Amino acid sequence: THSESGTPELAEPHLRQLLGAAGLAVEYVRAEGNTLYLRGDDGEEIPVADFAGGYGSVLLGHHHPDIVRCARELLDAGTPVHAQFSRHPYANRLAAELNQIVHRELGTDEPYFAIFANTGAEAVEAAVKHAEMDRVMRLADLRGELAAAVESTRRAVDAGDAVVPERLRARFGIMGTLDDAAAFRELAAHIEPLNGARLDRRPLFLALEGGFHGKLGLSVQLTHNESYRAPFRGLAAQARFVPRESPEALREIHERERGVVLAFTVSGGQVDVVEREFPVFCAFLVEPIQGEGGVHVLSPEFAGEIQRFCAEIDCPIVVDEIQSGMGRTGTLLASSPLGLRGDYYTLAKTLGGGIAKTSAMLVRQARYRPEFEIVHSSTFAKDSFSCVIALKVLELLEADDGAVYRTARERGAALRAVLDGVRADFPEQVREIRGEGLMLGMEFHDQSGAASASVRELAATGLFGYFLAGHLLREHRVRTFPTASALNTLRFEPSVRLTDAELALLDDGLRDLCRALAAGDGERLVGR
Ligand code: PMP
Repeated sequence: THSESGTPELAEPHLRQLLGAAGLAVEYVRAEGNTLYLRGDDGEEIPVADFAGGYGSVLLGHHHPDIVRCARELLDAGTPVHAQFSRHPYANRLAAELNQIVHRELGTDEPYFAIFANTGAEAVEAAVKHAEMDRVMRLADLRGELAAAVESTRRAVDAGDAVVPERLRARFGIMGTLDDAAAFRELAAHIEPLNGARLDRRPLFLALEGGFHGKLGLSVQLTHNESYRAPFRGLAAQARFVPRESPEALREIHERERGVVLAFTVSGGQVDVVEREFPVFCAFLVEPIQGEGGVHVLSPEFAGEIQRFCAEIDCPIVVDEIQSGMGRTGTLLASSPLGLRGDYYTLAKTLGGGIAKTSAMLVRQARYRPEFEIVHSSTFAKDSFSCVIALKVLELLEADDGAVYRTARERGAALRAVLDGVRADFPEQVREIRGEGLMLGMEFHDQSGAASASVRELAATGLFGYFLAGHLLREHRVRTFPTASALNTLRFEPSVRLTDAELALLDDGLRDLCRALAAGDGERLVGR
């Protein structure tokens, strides 16, 4: 396999072939605002209305002039980009700026410390790695408390201040003829290794069904999609997936998986052994709006259930705002209007203004472990180029009393009106419209039982949404994609620079698509 230019195809040729089958293997040569330009057959530029929006990384539009100017100024000024292990005042300013907005939205003044990374998955990895460090340190405290309790109980028994009662001997099969000191030693020799083995258990994560948190070794185990996750099961700790909007499932998983150790106590001159729950669950990962799972919005009620549950079992919540955050839904954090309060937040995508590759994870002070700073880093993270651009992004979001947030809401409502209108006219084809602001999804009905053989065939490829996207691109110059784990849902995450003309293109395109489906014309949808 060679490309047209004769260069061997070595950069993911299989993927290119798949995209080609759906009519999506075009080359984009320029980008501006909400438009991508593809190269036509005669080398000409053809504008495409971009509703994929870099899957959420270009909320401000491609090549926002202020971001481009900022990048140019940094390069022209010879700003050192790679200056690891120095003071990084720009990173500190960025952390402070993020805190100010987060505090306003959450109504708190608790500091959130920032750890910078390069990609979304990397920020997720940093968050769960920090959470595991915190868990292990809490376990170490617990081990210390258990050992101290053994010691103090032993002393009490040896001094004759406490006895090992018959009831306890019977429970652990200790002979009634042993004196108290010997009975206690036998009891401790039984319980201490038992506790040790339990505390050594591997951690578990909690995540939602349909959730997507990245594709790296650890983060992919938190991503529900079986085909991404299952081959790499051996690489990292496992997650238990909670069905959406299902508080009962939370309780069931907890009942099944909870970990308890046995702790000695002395009361009324008698030794006793009580159960103490210890943290098996390392973190609960939540997207306020699932992006790749098909654009599902978390309800405030379920958010509240998760919050209460996690508080009860002392499990930190990682709110993954990588796709939903950065103003897309009208607030920096899509989760803040839900009343959800994260111990951790992850931000990426639009944080880099569509130019820099950067991400951040925030940890609230109450959970923060400064030791983490010594054991976690990346060559590329926290660099001046990315940080200064991210500061510019925040400045743009906050300018004019939050004009970008308002525009995201207003353009989101206009987009929603188009999608709702199509659904109203094609209820047999379109199942549901979901989302908030500029993060919307259109779910199509499953077509595997369609009357038309060509439409059934399309559904049977398992790439249904990609063919719909191919049709929209080819026939209507509209770019969108299905979400990664729900291929019947097309995603719409354009920039705030979305125009009414582009909305009209989308409206026409979707209606044409629905008409073709209604007419059973699968041939047209694959471009034959
Ligand atoms: N979390 C969420 C919610 C995402 O949507 C994504 C990317 N789609 C990621 C994590 C991973 O980000 P990246 O692709 O930058 O690793």
